[in-house]
Amino acid sequence: MIRAIEDYVRSLGLDAYLVGGAVRDELLGLESKDADFLVPGVDTDALRAALEPHGRVENLVVADRLVGVRLHPRDPEIRALAPAGIEFAPPRKEVSTGPGRHDFEIVADPSLSVEADMRRRDFTVNAMARRLEDGTIVDPLDGRADLERRILRTVSPMSFAEDPLRLVRGLRFVSQLGFELDEQTRAQMVEEAPAVRLVSGERIGGGLAADGMGELSKLLLGARPAAALIAARDTGVLVELIPEFGPARYLADHIFAVVQETADAGDHLAVRLAALFHDLGKPVDDDPHGHALVGAQIARDTLRRLRYPERLTRRVVAIVREHPYRDEDRPRTPREARRFLLQHGDELAFDLVAIRLADLRGKGGDVTGVEELRALLEQELPAPHRLSDLAVDGDDLIAIGFRPGPDLGRALQELLEIVVDDPSMNDRERLLEHAKVEGWPASR
Ligand code: ATP
Ligand code: MG
Repeated sequence: MIRAIEDYVRSLGLDAYLVGGAVRDELLGLESKDADFLVPGVDTDALRAALEPHGRVENLVVADRLVGVRLHPRDPEIRALAPAGIEFAPPRKEVSTGPGRHDFEIVADPSLSVEADMRRRDFTVNAMARRLEDGTIVDPLDGRADLERRILRTVSPMSFAEDPLRLVRGLRFVSQLGFELDEQTRAQMVEEAPAVRLVSGERIGGGLAADGMGELSKLLLGARPAAALIAARDTGVLVELIPEFGPARYLADHIFAVVQETADAGDHLAVRLAALFHDLGKPVDDDPHGHALVGAQIARDTLRRLRYPERLTRRVVAIVREHPYRDEDRPRTPREARRFLLQHGDELAFDLVAIRLADLRGKGGDVTGVEELRALLEQELPAPHRLSDLAVDGDDLIAIGFRPGPDLGRALQELLEIVVDDPSMNDRERLLEHAKVEGWPASR
């Protein structure tokens, strides 16, 4: 897929270089999802002028600065391959704007070399470029050697100080790529850990992208989140990011093991986040129910601070809040399973199964009961248990004399409970008959 985009870009007649993650991934033999291009010798205006004949060109703005352009190609085949567009940037460098080490800007400078652009990047393995024209690799920091040894190394000792988001990006690559931190890079991480507080929530939680896909999410969605979280704890980054991990230090090994289980099971990001927060309430309240409520509050506050999308935040909070239940209370009959689906809704019901499986596996517990619950829930899923499954709706009740309003909603809810207890009741005539006989307040 990247090849086809490359061929297209080559046909545009620019002296473009494939850069960043795409080069890294191709050398690792991994499929890369996006391709970014660097075009030396031009500024953004010239880039725009060169690309405009080929499609719609959009400005790429990061932190209020124009860093490049995005082309939405007119060619439908290419557009299908790169639905989000193709990014082109002139070389950039860091320019100091004040006395502090965080006072700098990234500015475009067409006269810069490709090597210079590589040197302002975050890690050596991300600081490689491949020239489309002749395939030469520009690798001034010997990223290839680090790639082969699977080592993550910063491009400079000031890297984390200059942009503390790189602390989380580095941990993200530990999880995604399974790389080890270089020893000096680890020491720099320890040194700069407190600076992670300066990073805006958007860049961590992904509110900017509106999909929650910031660096922390990519860390959790990687294959080895436990390794990354252990490194985050040992370097002090984790407690700066989520201070509640301080008092919960004694629970961290269990929490990381549970997060790893959610990754191994391929669980949704919401379940992985819930795993991260699920026991953080314990230092405050050791009661099973109490710790879940405290944990849910910690999850809500943290995810809002990190600008996670509200829908995802609510899903995580619900999982954390409801995650403890006693095995004696687990649904065992088809009817109890349908009630469980009614009570929680399908999404939360299966999320709760997922977190429970991960929690038990994380402590080497017996999961047969939870596996049974999951099978039972799946078996009952086709049975009516949602308002939309009900053989009658609000209009049907209004037609027999109910008035619109909250009581009408309650009547429908009661009919649904009847149907959940006895699916054979899900018959229009029988339900309407029942509604008439009951003579609920809304029917007067
Ligand atoms: P992914 O596969 O998730 O896209 P990526 O390495 O391509 O990983 P991007 O966020 O797409 O990550 O960034 C593209 C490239 O830009 C990186 O490979 C790196 O060279 C550079 N880069 C991104 N963010 C930073 C940063 N905060 N500091 C320095 N360089 C960065
Ligand atoms: Mg990328």
